[in-house]
Amino acid sequence: MSVVQELKEKVLEGGEISRREALLLAKAPLEELTDAAGQIRQVRCGRGFDICTIVNGKCGRCPEDCRYCAQSAHYRTGETQSYGLMSTEMLLEGAKYNAARGVLRYSIVTSGRGLSQREVEQVCESIRVIRQETDIQVCVSFGLLEEEQFVRIRQAGASRVHCNLESSARFFPQICTTHTWQDKVRTLKAARRAGLSICSGGILGLGETMEDRIDMVLAARELGVKSVPVNLLNPIPGTPLEKNRVLTNDQARRCVAIFRFLIPDAAIRLAGGRGLLGDQGRGCFLGGANAAISGDMLTTAGITVEKDMELLKELGFEARLCDD
Ligand code: SF4
Repeated sequence: MSVVQELKEKVLEGGEISRREALLLAKAPLEELTDAAGQIRQVRCGRGFDICTIVNGKCGRCPEDCRYCAQSAHYRTGETQSYGLMSTEMLLEGAKYNAARGVLRYSIVTSGRGLSQREVEQVCESIRVIRQETDIQVCVSFGLLEEEQFVRIRQAGASRVHCNLESSARFFPQICTTHTWQDKVRTLKAARRAGLSICSGGILGLGETMEDRIDMVLAARELGVKSVPVNLLNPIPGTPLEKNRVLTNDQARRCVAIFRFLIPDAAIRLAGGRGLLGDQGRGCFLGGANAAISGDMLTTAGITVEKDMELLKELGFEARLCDD
């Protein structure tokens, strides 16, 4: 039996694959690997497809120096838009728009290291109103917050916190120096203690190795993450990573398939940069991914919800929450 088939059997029997085994998959024949990952997805997750959208709830002028980001004040990217926390009316309007189109989760994302206490109170009011007026799930991505703030956010009606690990602990200092990978782990643990589920993945194409990608997902698995956003770097002119190469479709498919082996019951979620793939993610969805961020991304255009709904139907999926 080939390594791929052996490891597929192991995963389907409930076993966990190790770092060494994941590295073997990095060298396995691609089609066999993605077929096996698709089968694991089918058995462990069924036809459900977890579709979410994000809203840029506060934009720009960020003091952090993440080297891929158009919103960092450290780089001259031509990204001139910046505004403070969006009003409840605007956030509600976005939530209603997405709920009406069958989107299951609405994630409010803010730029910056974190939110002030006043901002947390303001956004909690918005979450309460959204939850009263729609049945869409509310997720939040507010940077580095403390447990008490997450408790307030959960009480307001949010169900999930997003905070990407971005890459491995080893590689992270090369992409950000103003906060640490451990800060992110602390944030995710605080969110879990506050009773929220957690969503955490990263960006591929930062200059990291396959080992870094695997270590990132192993760390997410260790933290109990069941939603893993997979972003493909879209190199933004003016950022230090502007000359990085975009991942090829096959490289993305391989990563997604390995992540499916690593956390077989997770929502493996194609996120930013999906439009850079010629097939808009189709190959990844057939090879293990079962979730996506739809609509426009924070600072780049995405794929419309309508198009995604058509695609997921065509591939045999149905929109359904993948809960922890
Ligand atoms: S990724 Fe977030 S924290 Fe980092 S610079 Fe961009 S907005 Fe700021």
